[in-house]
Amino acid sequence: MKSWNKPELVDFNFYKNYELKQLNLFDSRRQKTTKIPRKSDELKLYVCGITPYDSAHLGHAFTYVTFDSIIRILNFIGQKTTYAQNITDLDDPLFERARSTNRSWREIVTEQVEIYRQDMTALNVIPPDFFVGVEENINLVIQEIDEIKDFSYQLDDKTYFKKQSNLNSRLVSDKSNQDLIQIASERGCDVSTLGKLNPLDPILWRSSGKDEPEWKTSYGSGRPGWHIQCISLAQKYLNLPFDIQGGGKDLIYPHHSMCDEITQITKNKDFAQVYCHVGMVSFEGSKMSKSKGNLVFVHQLIKMGTDPLLIRLMLISKTWNQDWEFNFDELKKFEDLFSKLKSLSHKYIGINNLEYIIDFILNDLDFSSAIQYILNIDKFEYSKDLISLGEVMNNLFGLSFHNVN
Ligand SMILES: [Zn+2]
Repeated sequence: MKSWNKPELVDFNFYKNYELKQLNLFDSRRQKTTKIPRKSDELKLYVCGITPYDSAHLGHAFTYVTFDSIIRILNFIGQKTTYAQNITDLDDPLFERARSTNRSWREIVTEQVEIYRQDMTALNVIPPDFFVGVEENINLVIQEIDEIKDFSYQLDDKTYFKKQSNLNSRLVSDKSNQDLIQIASERGCDVSTLGKLNPLDPILWRSSGKDEPEWKTSYGSGRPGWHIQCISLAQKYLNLPFDIQGGGKDLIYPHHSMCDEITQITKNKDFAQVYCHVGMVSFEGSKMSKSKGNLVFVHQLIKMGTDPLLIRLMLISKTWNQDWEFNFDELKKFEDLFSKLKSLSHKYIGINNLEYIIDFILNDLDFSSAIQYILNIDKFEYSKDLISLGEVMNNLFGLSFHNVN
C-alpha cells in the first residue's frame, strides 16, 4: 500500500558514540521498564494500524507519534530498524459503516487512508518500511489459516481457533477467565455463541455479509478474522518472533493476547519479545471512541488553524503509556513552550548537552525532561562547528521548526 513521504532528516552520524546505549521502554508483558536488546542487524517492530473508517483521531495520533519517536531514537543511537504497520481494511466496523452510509467499503478505505497519510505527513511521522493492507495480502492470510487448520473447528458459518483452556497469554496473566470474557464481550467478541468450545475462542474465518468481499477457501466462502491477519503480516514482513509489538492499550485484549496465544500454540514460539501499549486519550470525560462519538480528529484541528507540530509537541510531552484527557485549553498550554523551542532552534549546543537529551529520551521516552533540560541550558554555543539544536529537535522530537514560518 502506498505510504507517505519521508520527512527530511539530517544524518548526524554520531551513532558510533552511542553504540553501547540502549532504549528502555515499559513492557506490558513483563509489567516493568525493560532494556530493549540491541541487534546487530535490524530491530523489528510491528504496530497495529487503523481500521480505515474514522481515521486519525488524537488517540491514533498519540500511538503513531509514540512509535515514530521510538524509531527516531533507535536510529539515532545507530540501531537499524524494520517497521511494519498494517491497515485493517477487512474488518466488521468498516463494513458496518459502508452499510449505514450506503457507500462502498473500498471508497471509504481509499478516502480514509488518504486522510491518514496527510495527517501522518503533517505530524512529521516517518513512514513505516512496510505499510500493508490485509486485502492485498489475502492469499497469505488464507494460507496461514490452512496451515493451522488442525487447531480450528467449524461452527455454523464460522471457523474458530481452538484455545487451550488452561493457557491464556502472558499479557493477561493477572486476569481470570471471567474477566477476559467480560473484556471480550465489551469489545464486541461473540463470547455467548452457543456451541463454542470456549467462549474466548477467536474467529479465524467467517462467511461474508451482504456487500462484503469474500474469497473461496476449503472452509467455505468468506473473509478472515482479525488476529490471524496481523499474525500473517508480521510473519511475512518481520518473521516471528519480532522485537516490539505496538499499539494502543485497548489492543492488549483480545487482539495482542490472541496473536500471542495462537502463535504459541501453533508454532511453539513467541509472537513478539516486548509489548508496548500506548495510553488512551479521553475527551469530555470518556475514552475517545467511535461509539461515544467524542472523537477529536487531527485533520479537524489542523483545519481550525492548529499547527500540527504543536499537536506533536503536546503528544510527545505526555507519558506515552499513560491515559490522559484532551481539551482545547490543554493544547493552548503548549503554545508558549512551542514558541520558546522554536526560538531556540537557531542555537547550537555541545556534545555533552546532546548526551543529556538522548539519555532522557532513552529513559522510557522522557521527552518532558529532555525539553526541560533544553530550557535550562544557560549557555548556548554559537559556533557553527557545534550541534544545531534545531536539527536535534527535528531529528529526535520530530519538530521541524525550519519548516515553520
Ligand atoms: Zn494487529
